[in-house]
Amino acid sequence: MGELLEVYEASTSASLAQYKATHASSISDVSGYWSELAKSKLTWFAPFSEGLSGSFEEGSVSWFAGGRLNFVGKENETAIIWEGDEPGNVKHISFHELKNEVCKIANALKSAGVTKGDVVTLYMPMVPELCYTMLACARIGAIHSVIFAGFSADAIADRIQDAKSKWVVTASAGSRGGRNLPLKTICDAAVKKDRCVGVVEKVFVFDGKGETGSDWEVQDIHVKMTELVAAQRPVCSCEWMDAEDPLFILYTSGSTGRPKGLVHTTGGYALFAMHTTANSFGLSQQTAASTDGPKDVYACVADAGWITGHTYIVYGPLLNGCSTLMFESTPMYPDCGRYWDMVQRHKITVFYTAPTAIRSLMRFGDEAPNKYDLSSLRVLGTVGEPINPAAWKWYFDVIGKGRCAVVDTYWQTETGGHVITNLPGITPMKPGSCTLPCYGIEVVVLESATGKEIETTEAEGVLAIKQPWPGMARTCLGDHQRYLSVYMKPYPKYYFAGDGCRRDKDGYIWITGRVDDVLNVSGHRIGTAEVESALVAHMAVAQAAVVGLPHEIKGQGICCFTTLTDGHTESDDLIKELRQAVRTQIGPFATPDMIIPTSALPMTRSGKIMRRILRKIAAGELDSLGDTSTLLDPSVVDTLSKKVEQAR
Ligand code: ATP
Ligand code: MG
Repeated sequence: MGELLEVYEASTSASLAQYKATHASSISDVSGYWSELAKSKLTWFAPFSEGLSGSFEEGSVSWFAGGRLNFVGKENETAIIWEGDEPGNVKHISFHELKNEVCKIANALKSAGVTKGDVVTLYMPMVPELCYTMLACARIGAIHSVIFAGFSADAIADRIQDAKSKWVVTASAGSRGGRNLPLKTICDAAVKKDRCVGVVEKVFVFDGKGETGSDWEVQDIHVKMTELVAAQRPVCSCEWMDAEDPLFILYTSGSTGRPKGLVHTTGGYALFAMHTTANSFGLSQQTAASTDGPKDVYACVADAGWITGHTYIVYGPLLNGCSTLMFESTPMYPDCGRYWDMVQRHKITVFYTAPTAIRSLMRFGDEAPNKYDLSSLRVLGTVGEPINPAAWKWYFDVIGKGRCAVVDTYWQTETGGHVITNLPGITPMKPGSCTLPCYGIEVVVLESATGKEIETTEAEGVLAIKQPWPGMARTCLGDHQRYLSVYMKPYPKYYFAGDGCRRDKDGYIWITGRVDDVLNVSGHRIGTAEVESALVAHMAVAQAAVVGLPHEIKGQGICCFTTLTDGHTESDDLIKELRQAVRTQIGPFATPDMIIPTSALPMTRSGKIMRRILRKIAAGELDSLGDTSTLLDPSVVDTLSKKVEQAR
């Protein structure tokens, strides 16, 4: 990864120089920079008195104190293009309709007793009602907590209990990839658990597609939401919120431990979502103020249950007045051409997905994308993990036809929005690097042992942010000490992101993986992402996950788990070849000690590999696996530990 010096020009160097000047001035006075934007971009009921106050150390950051606001939208343009599970099942929802639906749901919630500051748990399929209900909560000042519709009853119950959520909104059922999602049944199982009894007052159930499999046995708890909403007036005055009032809470993916309920605010988050969406995807010129000129058709195909869906399906595009696509299905349904079929049908201009999706589609070759007209595309985005250069190039060449910018957006649930990314048409791209910091974000690299800021351009260490920004999470719900100890205390005066990185001679950031994942092999620090990238570059490898292994001599050894592409089977020769591939690409010091081909890896439901589980499997510590509630398929643990035993 580090050896790839290819640079893909974005445009002229003049615009990069302009970016650098704007960025430098934005971080020389972050309070002033964000205050100006907040005044011009958001509508305030009462003006704020102060931009930034508080500090990382005290965990007291506040933006736009005293200001009061709520969101207002445009009227007749398309707000949401909804693409249902079955291809061609499409709805266009204008901003006017969106506002009416949001008001009706807001009134329905209010009529049942939901008030400002209450936590409303949403366990919904990817249907427009999910987006309406999120915004309805925002309108009345309730705090939404969206739980991805793939989670189990236990995971829902944990989150309901943690957030003391009196209200739950679900649908009778949903469908995804042609399969029925019995959401109400799962939700009922959660609500009936001891830890939720007495917490939950009402479960609002929208009519959904498919069988519910569960009757209305708990009449005093269940509310037929579709009927209740239909009875409401489409007018509901909004609650004027303090800029620092919580807008929502969201639990992290759980890749590294017990999920944290992060709290995001009304003013700062909204501004940050809006600003980063416009900049990172180059929307500003096209949709912000002017109504003429080409319009973007923007599609983020994440699930609304993750932060990517919150910021880049719902809040970011809608606050910019840009139409946003909501996708109910999967990239594989009915076949691996689904995304590209959608691009052609909706003339999508901005398409945003994750490396795991790109890698899995790449396995099927170029035939599917080549069948469709992809000429509407202008910007391609990626998020969630470091993207290996081979997948980046496939995305750039085969999907973008070498014409589109690929924006590699680095951020976290905690950051609320992008903090490092290239800007289309401005930043020259290097495959695998998320490039340069966003406006108003001061990124630094710290020595991991001492926490000293590394001043030289070329640097290797841990990634940190030096000054507060409006979109940062303000606390972990009900556990401010955890917030302080995870993000603020490891390196006092900095926000610690938990990721390792390298900064190259051009100041470009390369994420090397979670700090916990950096290996120390005979004194060499090796990023797991680098070894994975070397493996995935081999034709036979679809996915790779690399973890450390206790090793008597080297301290740590390298253990690689790989899934194989179609047409390849595991053999000793293949393992030798893969070992050689890592030696050639990185160096003999990175020679894997163990390579385990497998048919599946432990994934979170958001599609990330759970390396902490693999570490335990590699070390044979099966009795201390930790929280496995976010694991998609728990049976892989057994299969893999048997394979590791055999390989020893
Ligand atoms: P948890 O915090 O519960 O362990 P998580 O970190 O997977 O879960 P998210 O907030 O969804 O939860 O993911 C953020 C992380 O994803 C980042 O800290 C980083 O490790 C990784 N990441 C996101 N985008 C990129 C990117 N463009 N390049 C490299 N890594 C990325
Ligand atoms: Mg994280």
